[in-house]
Amino acid sequence: MDALDHQITQYSQSLEDLILPGTLIDCYEQHRRRLMRQASACFNDNELSWFLDMLNQLRGVADRQDDFDLLFDPMMYTENSYAWGAPPGLTINLPVLNSQLATAPFVTEKFRKMAEDEIAQFRTLAETYPDEAICGLALLAAAALVDRDPGITDRRSAIRYLALNASARLEDYWAEDDTLWKSAGPRLVKLPDLFLEQKESLRRGALESVHGPLTEVDLTCYTDEEVKHYAFNPGKFLMSGKTKHMPVCGYCQERVARWVNYARDAEERTIVQFGGKLPIA
Ligand SMILES: [Zn+2]
Repeated sequence: MDALDHQITQYSQSLEDLILPGTLIDCYEQHRRRLMRQASACFNDNELSWFLDMLNQLRGVADRQDDFDLLFDPMMYTENSYAWGAPPGLTINLPVLNSQLATAPFVTEKFRKMAEDEIAQFRTLAETYPDEAICGLALLAAAALVDRDPGITDRRSAIRYLALNASARLEDYWAEDDTLWKSAGPRLVKLPDLFLEQKESLRRGALESVHGPLTEVDLTCYTDEEVKHYAFNPGKFLMSGKTKHMPVCGYCQERVARWVNYARDAEERTIVQFGGKLPIA
């Protein structure tokens, strides 16, 4: 990682700690990033890039990923998720992980064969790494996937976990036909109250240098009425005495943006209706 990358990473990391999550998916992302930071702390940058390279060899040239958060990407799991539009919360439903699905009695022969091949290939790739490293890497994967019960106890289970959850071929299988994953039912992931935690850290003054001291009012979400009001009356928003909440709260930003978009769409519909010109009120 060069100096600029490092700076950007640090910058977005501190932003992440400063802005209240806007949606349920934000909560999930923030939580898993925090778990990943903890799980990767026992490795240095060199070790991490060797691991990444090894996992990318399993995935193949066309499916390489630049980082662990992308490699163990719940994009496969969150692409069409309701959580993108849901408010911050404490639980999220995600599709079952490959490592969990592999133990289901109804799994197809095609899945089983693919899984075995991936495990065998990864076992060879991992040959030169000691047990401790492989187990640590598997725990990093579990952190990225927010898997509380990954069942990683030894080298064998760690290899299995990594191979199944990093596999690009199983990802392709899922993209082509996700019936198996759907029939396993969703995976319920519990999240800490990030919204509250972040509010607490803001209250402790994390943002003071930027915004001056924040009061209770600055940390209180707008009511639905206020959201609508501010979306349509920027002037009133500026006069409201509650402007400081907007930059710190992704949730309220989303809510206001939704109304602004709604208004814009309505305007466009009207323009189309009146042949390209806005009617004179
Ligand atoms: Zn808010």
